[in-house]
Amino acid sequence: MNTISGLHHVTAIAGPAQENLNFYSGILGMRLVKKSVNQDDPGTYHLFYADAEGHPGTDITFFPWADLAPRRDGYGLSTEVSLAVPPGSLEFWSERLTKLGASASQPETRFGAKVLPVCDPHGLPIALVESESSSGRPFTAWDRSPVPGQFQIRGLESARMLEHDLDDPAAFLRDAFGFHEMNEENGWHRYGVGEGASGQYLDLRAAPDERRGAWGTGTIHHLAWRVADDAQQLAVREQVLRQGAQPTPVIDRFWFKSVYFREPGGVLFELATDGPGFHVDEAMTSLGESLVLPPWLEPNRDAIERVLPKLTPPATR
Ligand code: ZN
Repeated sequence: MNTISGLHHVTAIAGPAQENLNFYSGILGMRLVKKSVNQDDPGTYHLFYADAEGHPGTDITFFPWADLAPRRDGYGLSTEVSLAVPPGSLEFWSERLTKLGASASQPETRFGAKVLPVCDPHGLPIALVESESSSGRPFTAWDRSPVPGQFQIRGLESARMLEHDLDDPAAFLRDAFGFHEMNEENGWHRYGVGEGASGQYLDLRAAPDERRGAWGTGTIHHLAWRVADDAQQLAVREQVLRQGAQPTPVIDRFWFKSVYFREPGGVLFELATDGPGFHVDEAMTSLGESLVLPPWLEPNRDAIERVLPKLTPPATR
């Protein structure tokens, strides 16, 4: 069994790009580490937010499609992404989000951890989790963030998935990825890889009485899982095939290589390599400042830049 090492990135569908930038960079204080386009729809941005160096497992990325209908809630979707914040920091976050007009709920406790559920401006449910085990993660604070380093988001903590039933998805997570069941609370089943630490677990709940959900504004588009290198990616791809899923060939995304498929419950997954990383085509000091295009789109740069909305750095508050 070749076990994946945790979440690599999470990609979601947003509304207008400037509002997305204002929230994730201006309010949550994450660094825009890559400004590119959707490679299948180059008239749409692909925006990546992460820690200062874009470590694998720290980034949340968005396709801002301004005119899409809202999502339809239901099973077969990942329904929330959670972000790790340092223990003791939720009070800071609660005050900051309230002051800046973000829609945060009351803090709650999940599996013994303090959690602040928040909706982003386009309805995507996110959760800030006081994560004890996040202190062991590779993380570089961003010195131009409006959020002081000691409170900054450490990376992806986890995600939630709603399924029609759990049997097939759970067996797939175990046999294709190496997950084991860790715990259960309020109908949520927690599955982990390795120690099941920050970035290494996933919560699933069965919702047989709901309808099938559908993508729209404010939905998670896919969950990407970490594989160390090309060899491990191919090995895990074989495991995915053996479990009956239909993975794509390896696609070179330049910052990492990707394989996509749906898990048995319908959620879109990706296997993404840890390297080479976001600094492969831009200096670390100026990540995300200019539009990066894949080579085959370079000849169309002028036309693409004319279509994309202008983005201005958010005000620092
Ligand atoms: Zn992806």
